[in-house]
Amino acid sequence: MITLKAIDRPIIISGPCSAETEEQVMETARQLKATGKVHMLRAGIWKPRTRPNAFEGIGEIGLKWLMNASVETGLPCMTEVANAHHVELALKAGFKKLWIGARTTVNPFTVQEIADSLKGIDDLEILVKNPVNPDLNLWIGAIERFKQIGINEVHAIHRGFSSFKTQRYRNEPMWEIPLALKSEFPTIKLICDPSHICGRRNLLPEIAQKAIDLIYDGLMIETHIDPSVALSDAQQQITPKELDELLSALVIRSEYSDNETFTKNLEALRCEINSIDSELQNLLMKRMNIVKQIGKYKKENKITILQPQRWEEIKSLYHQFAKESGYSKIFVEKYLEAIHLESIRQQTKVMNEE
Ligand code: PEP
Ligand code: MN
Repeated sequence: MITLKAIDRPIIISGPCSAETEEQVMETARQLKATGKVHMLRAGIWKPRTRPNAFEGIGEIGLKWLMNASVETGLPCMTEVANAHHVELALKAGFKKLWIGARTTVNPFTVQEIADSLKGIDDLEILVKNPVNPDLNLWIGAIERFKQIGINEVHAIHRGFSSFKTQRYRNEPMWEIPLALKSEFPTIKLICDPSHICGRRNLLPEIAQKAIDLIYDGLMIETHIDPSVALSDAQQQITPKELDELLSALVIRSEYSDNETFTKNLEALRCEINSIDSELQNLLMKRMNIVKQIGKYKKENKITILQPQRWEEIKSLYHQFAKESGYSKIFVEKYLEAIHLESIRQQTKVMNEE
């Protein structure tokens, strides 16, 4: 059975959000196979819906449909399991690849229950979606629970994080979290799920491209033969043909290049960056020394560390800088805030010195 590790980047997993009918699963699989670009099939059988009365999945019968589509196309298939009973039925139907949904990853009891029910089963591949909340440790913990029971092939799917206010994306990508996960587990395959991040099909290409540029190992994208009548996630599904177009338009950049001139130029530019960074560090130290001098002066004159008027003045200088440079206001504010917090810490130290 082919594993994620055996596939060259980018690994492409696709299929409907939900298995709905035997014919829909089979036809989607056939069309996906025909693209020649898809490595594995996916479909949800039991659907964790946020609100009741939505389509909650076709249930056990769908396992057979997916398996038949897998046998006919030769594409390995996977589905989501959310408790030990799902695991029992999926294993009975012959599934060796399972994913853990975002609403399951949040619950260590359920993750442990699923892991325990998989003990001793050979050739398994488990993909753990990020928890709905931006908690890196919860994601790491879920992965560890599967590794601990002896499953070697445990990988991760990044599907974004819920937020109270809906912004551009259905689920905020917060790229720093999956990237931190990858540094924790460098050999893990990191798959991006643009469908659940975007929530709208027109945004899929930009997120898919970004994931590729951040050296993700693959993509999981939802496809349906007729997205307009899909029983779940209709807005974000695309047809297999649209997937083919999306994948053809992706620019696959690699981490390294054999081109010597490129490598030399890159090295030269990086040297420049390093020397600018070192200048910035020197300047920062100079700035902190003045901050400390001011601290001493404030102490002698019994003046508070924080003076709101001065703080407002500096902030407006930085806002001006954001405008002039075109850098985002949030970036410039965060940068100033980091410096300010450290300045307060340094001045507090001075105040407390004997
Ligand atoms: C899914 O992949 O269909 C799904 C339900 O995803 P998530 O767990 O990311 O919401
Ligand atoms: Mn879905």
